[in-house]
Amino acid sequence: MKAVVYTEYAPDDNFAKILKVQDIDEPKPKADEVVFKVKVAALNYNDIWGMRGQPVPVPLPHVSGSDAAGDVIAVGDDVKNIKVGDRVVSHSNMSCRVCKACTDGREFDCVNRIIWGFQTGPTWGAFQEVTHLPEVNISKIPENVSYDEAAAASMTLLTSWHMLVGRAKIKPGQTVLIMGGGSGVGSFGIQIAKLYNCDVIATASPDKLDKCLELGADFAVDHRKEDWHKEVRAITKELAKKKGEVPGV
Ligand SMILES: [Zn+2]
Repeated sequence: MKAVVYTEYAPDDNFAKILKVQDIDEPKPKADEVVFKVKVAALNYNDIWGMRGQPVPVPLPHVSGSDAAGDVIAVGDDVKNIKVGDRVVSHSNMSCRVCKACTDGREFDCVNRIIWGFQTGPTWGAFQEVTHLPEVNISKIPENVSYDEAAAASMTLLTSWHMLVGRAKIKPGQTVLIMGGGSGVGSFGIQIAKLYNCDVIATASPDKLDKCLELGADFAVDHRKEDWHKEVRAITKELAKKKGEVPGV
């Protein structure tokens, strides 16, 4: 089967020079693994870090891609909840599931955590025709969600949800500032904060301001302007007045 492989880094960002379409062996499932045909693989900034070999040198030869959606074609003997034919999406956060953080339910803080398609390999990622993951790193795609949407949401949606809901514990009526509302994580951040009925201020570059408003942001501020923070502060003061909040109380 075909895969996009590189065998050296490109610290000069000349990625076209190192990327090659090559044949690699098709994976067979280990007992706890799911093998799936990749229909869609989304891009992720860690693809660029991988090709640069910085800040973390990735295993070589390398196949990037941490966000994949596709159809299951084989499962290992111990796989319980996924079957051949299921539409699935990857969850690229690979935690050990036995350390203190994992067993406390904080797998994102796992001391042994690695990101699939970035720190895995050689040649184990999303940019290959058929790939494999442990069952715990696979979710079924709901019927009303496309492969494209699932792959694009995989890491960005979970990152945003983890930060806003898991860590910040946002509540209705709060004001939320999303810095970089035009990014993958930021665009989900806007939608999650609106889902929680927060007032949302998003910052973005000028060409992405309309998109932020379209996604539900109540205010969009051009963060290329030197005094963008003053504009944000003025909006929060107005919002506080409307809500009858007294600063400092
Ligand atoms: Zn762990």
